[in-house]
Amino acid sequence: MTTIALRQNVQLQAVRERLNTIYEEIVNRNPGEKEFHQAAGEVLETLAPVVIKHPQFLDHKLIQRIAEPERQIIFRVLWQDDKGHDHINRGFRVEFNSALGPYKGGLRFHPSVYLGIIKFLGFEQIFKNSLTGMPIGGGKGGSDFDPKGKSEGEIMRFCQSFMTELYRHLGEHTDVPAGDIGVGGREIGYMFGQYKRITNRYESGVLTGKGIGWGGSLVRTEATGYGCVFFAEEMLKTAGNSIEGKKCVVSGSGNVAIYAMEKIKQLGGKPVACSDSNGFIYDESGINIELVKEIKENRRGRISEYADFRKSAKYSDKGTVWDIPCDVAFPCATQNEIPLEAAKSLISNGCIAVVEGANMPTTPEGAQAFLDAGILFGPGKAANAGGVATSALEMQQNASRDSWDFDFTEKKLLGIMQNIHRSCHETAIEFGVPGNYVAGANIAGFIKVAQAMFAQGLV
Ligand code: NAP
Repeated sequence: MTTIALRQNVQLQAVRERLNTIYEEIVNRNPGEKEFHQAAGEVLETLAPVVIKHPQFLDHKLIQRIAEPERQIIFRVLWQDDKGHDHINRGFRVEFNSALGPYKGGLRFHPSVYLGIIKFLGFEQIFKNSLTGMPIGGGKGGSDFDPKGKSEGEIMRFCQSFMTELYRHLGEHTDVPAGDIGVGGREIGYMFGQYKRITNRYESGVLTGKGIGWGGSLVRTEATGYGCVFFAEEMLKTAGNSIEGKKCVVSGSGNVAIYAMEKIKQLGGKPVACSDSNGFIYDESGINIELVKEIKENRRGRISEYADFRKSAKYSDKGTVWDIPCDVAFPCATQNEIPLEAAKSLISNGCIAVVEGANMPTTPEGAQAFLDAGILFGPGKAANAGGVATSALEMQQNASRDSWDFDFTEKKLLGIMQNIHRSCHETAIEFGVPGNYVAGANIAGFIKVAQAMFAQGLV
């Protein structure tokens, strides 16, 4: 090894140790928040070459500052069920970082929600929003409320109670929530109605994911799933390939999964499996998307019902979708749904690309296995950014009191996803890790936010 190479190696080692110490500080400062530790660890793992190039980020503690939310709000949500029984839930909004614009990120209603989940999602959102190139900061919120099995009236009363506290922290220039797991157009409608009632303001830009007739944007419903497939297509193109003719497996059967399957089909691929938290369906003849929509969007039923209508389909509640051989896998359900074992199963079955529609669906061990196997691996903070990017397009339309048609909006989404892909791809090359989209996304997302924070001083 030459003297220069040796010196560079020593420097890299010293920076890695410094980043490890910072990671330990984050863990100790946020006890018990394991998903947040994981998200922070995954980003810090890739930042060594950045802080070697920009030592001011270390000197001025930009990493520690980014890992500390600007504001964390936790509140009580009381509501009454149809039988007159009282319930207590906990609401959260973590306003993580506003260096690039108003806090922007969804609300999740799921019984697993606690501060550690909201902080992992909010942290990821900072870098994702930065990658979109739109002027939006990062935030996330939600509640441990379980919408499953609740009546329309119960959902409405919960949403109204939730917004009765949250409204005072929101505003089109301050904090703009959207949907996530358990929060779709229905819930956004109830929350927007309550916001309007309390504030006496028709402030369209305060929530995104609104109905088309009252300030929503065409393509917002489809955006995360479509965007994820656009990203997959760009990745495959760099390898001289395409989604056309590929057998695809998708997890989940919610908003992201449904529209990922729709776009796969439109681009000539074949989605053959999808799932929910009870089990999965395998339909060798190709998933009938209209049937999934009918079951999930209209009846709010279980994916097992699909097999009642399609002879070609098999339902199973044993194993996972990742056991089904496929060319491309799209995890679109939830965090940590691809542990190492599932990753190994995908690799040994010949999968060539894994593209994350969900947030952090692959464990660090699983992600490392994909990188080691040379599989194209698109991390969620880049691949699923189409949703928030289209939310920002919704805000633009609200601000100009305009509404764009479907084709125009979809073209904008495609352009944004192509730019995000290019930025991750080129950044990975620039920092010496070609083909590593995880590093490319983290580094490109981080640099923009860190530079803005640095320029804005100690605030
Ligand atoms: P959704 O419409 O509520 O659908 C979630 C799907 O995942 C459902 O099929 C659900 O099954 C399944 N699921 C949830 N928790 C699960 C668990 N613990 N194990 C197995 N399956 C589970 O939510 P979504 O909006 O599609 O969001 C899915 C993922 O994408 C999340 O990670 C979310 O953060 C991410 N994401 C969403 C958007 C967006 O615009 N919506 C944008 C970026 C990222 P059940 O019905 O059985 O619960």
